[in-house]
Parts: sequence; C-alpha cells; structure tokens
Amino acid sequence: IKWTEGRGWHDAQLTPYAPLSLDPANMTLHYAQEIFEGLKAYRRPDGSISLFRPEANAERFQRSARRLAMPELPVETFVAACDALVQQDQAWVPPHGGEESLYLRPFMIAGEVGLGVRPANEYLFIVIASPAGAYFPGGVQPVSVWLSENYVRAVPGGMGFAKTGGNYAASLLAQAEAAAKGCDQVVWLDALEHKWVEEMGGMNLYFVYGDKIVTPELTGSLLAGITRDSLLRLAGDLGYESAEGRISTDQWRRDSENGTLTEVFACGTAAVITPVGTVKSASGEWTQGDGKPGEVTLRLRKALLDIQTGAAEDVHGWTHKVC
Ligand code: PMP
Repeated sequence: IKWTEGRGWHDAQLTPYAPLSLDPANMTLHYAQEIFEGLKAYRRPDGSISLFRPEANAERFQRSARRLAMPELPVETFVAACDALVQQDQAWVPPHGGEESLYLRPFMIAGEVGLGVRPANEYLFIVIASPAGAYFPGGVQPVSVWLSENYVRAVPGGMGFAKTGGNYAASLLAQAEAAAKGCDQVVWLDALEHKWVEEMGGMNLYFVYGDKIVTPELTGSLLAGITRDSLLRLAGDLGYESAEGRISTDQWRRDSENGTLTEVFACGTAAVITPVGTVKSASGEWTQGDGKPGEVTLRLRKALLDIQTGAAEDVHGWTHKVC
C-alpha cells in the first residue's frame, strides 16, 4: 500500500514475493525512516487460522510512525493487510499441535528520492510472511544474559519505544559483546545510571517473586511488548499478582542470591516465554535458582501459547480469526 502527501493511503496490492527496486537516493537508505512489526498466525484445532492481538501491533505501529514522523496507517488497514496475506498463504500455516507458525513482518519505508534531511512525502507499507519453526525444538532451555554497561539501546527522548531498525542496529555490537562473554543475549540497562533493568535483546523481562510477577515499567526507552502486556493481564487468571516496577541490577543479584527472586524470564512473539538462567556482568556472575526453567515460567508459557494456538478458551478476546 502506498502513501502520498495530499492523497493518503492508496493502491493496495497483493503481489508475488519479489525484490524491491529502490533508487540509490531513496531517503530510507540514508535517513532510516523505517518501522516494522512482528506477529504470528497459528492454526487452531478446528483447522482455522488466527492472529494474536493484531490490533495491538497496529497501534504500536502507529506510535512508531508518529515518532519517526511517518504517516499513521489506520488499524483496520493494518489488520486487513495481514488478513489478506494469511488468506493467500494459508497453506504455509503449519498444522495445530506444535509451536510452529507463519510469522508476519509488516513494515513501512520512505519512498521519496532526495538527499535533504526531512520527512519524506511518499511511503510504502508492505507485509511479508515466513514460516517460523518452534523456538525450542528440544524443550524450553534457559538463556544466559550479559548485562550491558558499555552500550545503551535507547536514551530518554529517543526512539526506544518505537520498533525501528535503528534500535536494532544499535544493538548488534552489544549482542556481539554478549556472545564474546559466552552469553546468549544482551540485557539493556537505563542510559543515565546504567543500573535499572530495561529489556533483553528482542524481549521484555519478568521477575518472579513467589506468586507475584514484576516487569520493568515503560520508561519510554523500552519496547511495549504485546506479550508483556498480555502476561500482566493473564497472570491473574492463574492466581498470580502482576505489577510494573523498577528493578536494579543490584536488586536482581541480591534477591536471586537470597532466594526471594524465584524465577526470571523473558517474553516476546518469537519465543513466547524464555527462562533466564545465568546472568553475567563486568562485576560478577550468578545463576538464577537451580538454572532450570521455573514452574511459574512454564505455567505462564503454556497458558499463553494455548490461547494463541486455540488450544484453550480465549476469555480476553485476544485472538483474531482470519479464515
Ligand atoms: N523488546 C524488543 C526490543 C523487541 O524487539 C520485541 C519483539 N517485538 C519485544 C521487546 C517483545 O515484543 P512483543 O511481545 O510484542 O513481541
């Protein structure tokens, strides 16, 4: 779908997958006006296909667009585009019963050609799809994390809450540092004090204190994950309390070592929920609990995945039937 100044959104098309042809002076290539989303289509037990909270992705896409001075795509248009692609590609949605899905990647780029720094006057919104395998084919495994003190992902007033490629470009070197320290993922801390936990590479974090789950509050520099938001609400269904708060790295270590912090997990569209095991930082290393996935982590993971795949009743009205 195209957007042109003065004309708005027009020319929706469903076309075979093919390379894009871009002018070398396309403004996206120089000034990075680019935003994207990620969501999954699952096959339900009756063979129908549904998306999980696509309206929430559409709303986040609008918030990202506003921050990048791009036009907002109406929620209904975003969802209708996802629906149209899934209908077209329904044979690619795996059977019910596993964790496989069809991953959708909606994105928007500038279409104008020019070398001046200003918002473009033309944009292109596209959705592509790719089959996604189970994140943990051999069973859920804890990840090890590196607390990044050298790099920050986002600053107050910056673009951290937007899903834009630049945030991920900023994360690549930190992710390489985490790998060099023997860790699977980087954990981002706040930009001012390097002390408050924000989020993980492509996931939000949750801290489990017995029957209470706590996630870092939305400071503006971390992404408001749809999985994060769903868990804040789902927790009550399973008899847990949930809250948003501030967690420092010192508190993480202290509460982990004194046993009050019983589990830590990360959550996002890709892995749904991933337990966090070993934590490393420049000042030391510790392991959460016995290093195995915790009970609350696994219970929440199953409850959420069951709703997403249609194996359990969706009392929150989160699933959107496509076909
Ligand atoms: N934080 C970041 C930086 C991410 O890229 C993602 C994945 N979109 C998340 C958190 C989790 O968000 P969601 O639950 O919407 O997938």
